[in-house]
Amino acid sequence: MDTPCPACSGTGFRIVEQGGGTTAAVPCECGVAGRSARLLRAAGIPRRYEHCSLADFEIHDPSHQAALQVAREWVERWPDRVEHGLLFLGEPGTGKTHLAVGIARALIEEKGARVVFREQRQLLKELQATFDSGSARSEWDVLAPVLEAEVLVLDDLGAGRTTPWARDVMHDLIAHRYNERLPILMTSNRPTGEERDPRAPADPLEGMTLRDRLGEAMMSRLYEMCLIVHVRGKDFRRGVLHARHRF
Ligand SMILES: [Zn+2]
Repeated sequence: MDTPCPACSGTGFRIVEQGGGTTAAVPCECGVAGRSARLLRAAGIPRRYEHCSLADFEIHDPSHQAALQVAREWVERWPDRVEHGLLFLGEPGTGKTHLAVGIARALIEEKGARVVFREQRQLLKELQATFDSGSARSEWDVLAPVLEAEVLVLDDLGAGRTTPWARDVMHDLIAHRYNERLPILMTSNRPTGEERDPRAPADPLEGMTLRDRLGEAMMSRLYEMCLIVHVRGKDFRRGVLHARHRF
């Protein structure tokens, strides 16, 4: 990390005096403001999450406070003192993606990190599209940024159809980052499958857990790579009940 620019204290903007005693903020010559904007654009954060920051994450549940604390510490520790990635688990709408994007934004703005955001389903679709003969992008064009980003945000892990191909892609991606010691921040609204009672004959979540969708080997890899952070919501119990009825 560089020491912050003395002219703007790393904010990217300098306050200049204008005539008549007024002041204005102008982009600093160090280019930090432009760099953050470029890095944010390059990260590929979807528009609906663009605004998300750790500062505006709202606390609706005790688990939110704990998750926010973990997120802030992670930003503080990156890059030299992070020992694992994070896997935010919880029902839809509990703020998991907000937290992950908030970390991404803080890393970009405070540390100039090269972050890449991809939704798992979107990533697999983009890869499939490269198999069309007329595709302008190669498989490598799609994969390289995801494999090499300093920090990868992988949103909605375990979503979409589970095919052997999709499993292989996810396995290779996660194994590569594991071997290169490059962290992943993940979110998933699926139960891990750990809490399942193996004696229960008809489990309504059969086939729906992360363990079912990713496989045993990848799950142990994930546990090794990531700290699990549970993000709960007000209607957590009711949410589970609805989910069970739907299938
Ligand atoms: Zn500056």
